[in-house]
Amino acid sequence: MRAAKTQIVIPAGKGLEPAASPTHILPVAFQELLDTPRSAERQEFIDTLPIAIAIVALVDRKPIILTRNRAFLQLADRRGSFIEADAGSDLCAGIALPLLPVVEAFLLSDEQERSFDMEEGDGISGRHFAIRLARLSGSESQAPRCMVSLIDRTQQVEGERSLRSQMLRDSLTGLPNRAAFTEQVESAMLNFETEGRQFAVLLVDLTRFSRVNEGVGSLAGDELIITVARRLISALRAGDVLARLAGDEFAVLLSVADDSSEAMRAARRMQACLSTPIRLGDLEIKIDCAVGVAMMSSAIDAADDLIRNAQFAMKRAKQSGHAEIYQACDSTAARQRFSLETELRRAIERDQLQLAFQPLIDLNTGRVSGFEALARWEHAEKGTISPAEFIPVAEESGLIVPLGRWALRAATRTLAEWDRKAGMQLPVHVAVNVSAVQFQRDDVVAAVNAALMESGIGGNRLKIELTESCIVSDPDGIANVLRAIHDLDVLIAMDDFGTGYSSLAYLQRLPIDVLKIDRSFIAPMLEDRDSVAIVRAVLGLASALGMTTTAEGVETQELVETLIGLGCDVAQGYYFARPLPADQAYAYLRERMA
Ligand code: C2E
Ligand code: CA
Ligand code: CA
Repeated sequence: MRAAKTQIVIPAGKGLEPAASPTHILPVAFQELLDTPRSAERQEFIDTLPIAIAIVALVDRKPIILTRNRAFLQLADRRGSFIEADAGSDLCAGIALPLLPVVEAFLLSDEQERSFDMEEGDGISGRHFAIRLARLSGSESQAPRCMVSLIDRTQQVEGERSLRSQMLRDSLTGLPNRAAFTEQVESAMLNFETEGRQFAVLLVDLTRFSRVNEGVGSLAGDELIITVARRLISALRAGDVLARLAGDEFAVLLSVADDSSEAMRAARRMQACLSTPIRLGDLEIKIDCAVGVAMMSSAIDAADDLIRNAQFAMKRAKQSGHAEIYQACDSTAARQRFSLETELRRAIERDQLQLAFQPLIDLNTGRVSGFEALARWEHAEKGTISPAEFIPVAEESGLIVPLGRWALRAATRTLAEWDRKAGMQLPVHVAVNVSAVQFQRDDVVAAVNAALMESGIGGNRLKIELTESCIVSDPDGIANVLRAIHDLDVLIAMDDFGTGYSSLAYLQRLPIDVLKIDRSFIAPMLEDRDSVAIVRAVLGLASALGMTTTAEGVETQELVETLIGLGCDVAQGYYFARPLPADQAYAYLRERMA
């Protein structure tokens, strides 16, 4: 007989309470059959049942099998270790050893039924049974008897197990996935609490992996990920756990001595193991990674919090270029940013943002040629929040898309209202800022078109201001979008010109109407000869390319005169007006038109 590990699991509260009466357990007709002295009839009956059944009696305080059905014998055949098939000695051909004492105890008790699970054997060959003991009624004189039934649940249990292990595994690398990693961290947290075993979580993020993936194709990308996984494993010590959390994000659970220097050393090992380029066919690919480290501490009570801390550290690592460890201020800043994001989302939804309008002055005529629309957020508690603060939050969170669409609609609607108020088409346009992120994520052409249709404003009275970063990210894509916008007669201005790195050759190929020279060149012009030279060069370039020019941040009369002398077309700045609420901007315009 094979020595097999057999385990009996009695679920708490299940099967331990006696049932009301035996008739609740077996229908009366069955009981009669089971009690019948005509054993052939009884045997025939239980042989028809599909589950393994034995009837056991307590004779001389020992459980013996009175009878068993065919299914029971079949089970015994297959599993010699579990049930002895040999019924040679009629009384003792028995139930497996571990089951015996349970049946014995049951028959000695006054319980009417008991159910429990039983596991026989280990691992793959192990089997699982749902076992039920049900007392049989009989005359007083009869020995206590019960029916033992066994349902083989092996398939079901194994199915559940394999499903679970699939759910905990990353199919590409075979590594634990996020769910499994979280479980590992949770159990490490338990050890930390009970035994004070310190550990750290490291996140490894492959920088620019999506670019590589696009470049080499997803199959080769998969191969790359597998290679990276192998290398990372080679940098680990026994007992450390590597997991793949997402496409290009790996995590390591690291047991360390008390301080963080060991974790940082491991982080550098991770980076080092990826430093040699990876061969993929003919290609040699250099993979860079950012590593963020977070140490377990008693302040942390959820695995996700620890992982998030490592994420904060990783964010800094991406900027600094070397491994970083989490610091408490990381999450404070992130939380503040997050709450700002939540409030901004709400403000957009509730239409609580406003536009301010700053006049653009034609330097040749001194007239107002248009207004730049600038977003304003009056926060109920925090007061005015600068766009310099909330636009980056909007860009990072994706809120820039609804915000940008709102700005387009609100600006054109305002101009249409002014027209109505004036009873004429005013000789001005409105300029709206559109972020590079919006060009990447939104259908800007459709958004512009919708704003024009809704307001009834002609395309030539709308100007889109974009920054050089729009062009840098996707030069060909942006060219098509700008052409489509231009086809709607909408004007296009290159904002903050001079601060980015877009190539002049490229500017020439784009339908740009206006160059806006950044304030940082205009403001120092009076003191700084270099600035004058730059502005002069930009003005020359613009006229060569057939573009007009706007100077930003004009604060003094002298600057106005200098710019006129240099041949700049339009100026904008505090000297003329600050960005004004819509009604004041309208009044400003009407006054200067009179
Ligand atoms: P920007 O497009 O360069 O806007 C010009 C900024 O210069 C505005 O700041 C304006 O108030 C300020 N300014 C104008 N004249 C002067 C001056 O004479 N002196 C000084 N010191 N500053 C002057 P603001 O309104 O704080 O906007 C900051 C930035 O936020 C804008 O820079 C723009 O990039 C962004 N922004 C504002 N509204 C929107 C929007 O609706 N959508 C997008 N995507 N970005 C926006
Ligand atoms: Ca602007
Ligand atoms: Ca600007």
